[in-house]
Amino acid sequence: MSKLQKSLNEWKKELDPEVFRVTREKGTEHPYTGKLLHNTKTGIYTCSNCDHELFLSDAKYDSGCGWPAFYDPVTEDSLKYHDDSTFGMKRTEVTCGTCGAHLGHVFPDGPQDKTGQRYCINSVALKFKKK
Ligand code: FE
Repeated sequence: MSKLQKSLNEWKKELDPEVFRVTREKGTEHPYTGKLLHNTKTGIYTCSNCDHELFLSDAKYDSGCGWPAFYDPVTEDSLKYHDDSTFGMKRTEVTCGTCGAHLGHVFPDGPQDKTGQRYCINSVALKFKKK
């Protein structure tokens, strides 16, 4: 159970249609279109639905995949993990640990000198707060 529970109708009223489509209907934004893809400022990335802290700018890197990529969440309970076998692929879906927003997926092809994980996250699932 997510710590923050709202009905889909409540989220629909609060969120931009594109944010709702991605975070509440498990959509994917078009690659190379996200506002935060090339953001290199120092700060923190929070959930676009509930402001929960998800990733530090220190853990962001350019994976070349077309979506913002990180190698580590802020804390272990920043995120929740779910098996996802849609579209004939075995993937691990990542959601916000607080409100359950769909964020993206995590893959085991991240930087080997760090965690080895690539958190591939939709830009519209994130907000950036400059430090
Ligand atoms: Fe959230």
